[in-house]
Amino acid sequence: MQVLLVEDEVMVARALSEALRKSGLAVDLAQDGEEAWYLAGTGQYAAIVLDIGLPRVDGLTVMKRLRNEGVSTPILILSARGSWPERVAGINAGADDYLPKPFETEELLARVHGLIRRSSGVTATRLGAAGLEIDPASATVTVNGDSVDLTQMEYRLLFHLASNAGKVIPAAELAESLYSHNHERDTNAIEVLVGRLRRKIGKDYIQTRRGFGYAFKGQAQS
Ligand code: CA
Repeated sequence: MQVLLVEDEVMVARALSEALRKSGLAVDLAQDGEEAWYLAGTGQYAAIVLDIGLPRVDGLTVMKRLRNEGVSTPILILSARGSWPERVAGINAGADDYLPKPFETEELLARVHGLIRRSSGVTATRLGAAGLEIDPASATVTVNGDSVDLTQMEYRLLFHLASNAGKVIPAAELAESLYSHNHERDTNAIEVLVGRLRRKIGKDYIQTRRGFGYAFKGQAQS
């Protein structure tokens, strides 16, 4: 799953990208309002984290433009602490949630994952199947109670499949959700990744549908 992070402060952007990636999401970064508007217009994101104070075009204007164009991607806005008129304006302009700066990274992650869950209709806070449990908040996986050590890419792949349990996801779509837009999308890499994942979690959770893609066997658990 891919999110768009719009933040012009380089150090903050770097830290947040890293944290979002560790939590299982692919991240595209925009550092000004024009770029944010351009990227968000593609509609490929599961959520957008949007700073309000941005160069070129401010965050509120970006959001108004997107909503006017019918882009319904959930948006979390970041605003300066104490600037309540900004937050009210943000919510009126179509924000789904807001977070005043400064904030704890854990809170941002919880809110972003909450937005994605709500918009995808998945109400369970944990995903999984018989014996396998995924905790999106901590990006951890257990099989029969034992924690499994996954790489970021393995976790992202599993998270994406489990979020769409029962559906067959084409390898090309998985590659797209795993890598950011400027990264090479290689479906062979997905096959390799699925193989590694199966060795770690067991071979029965992910099914291969030859010529179609991959499906996670199991249902979201509450
Ligand atoms: Ca800013």
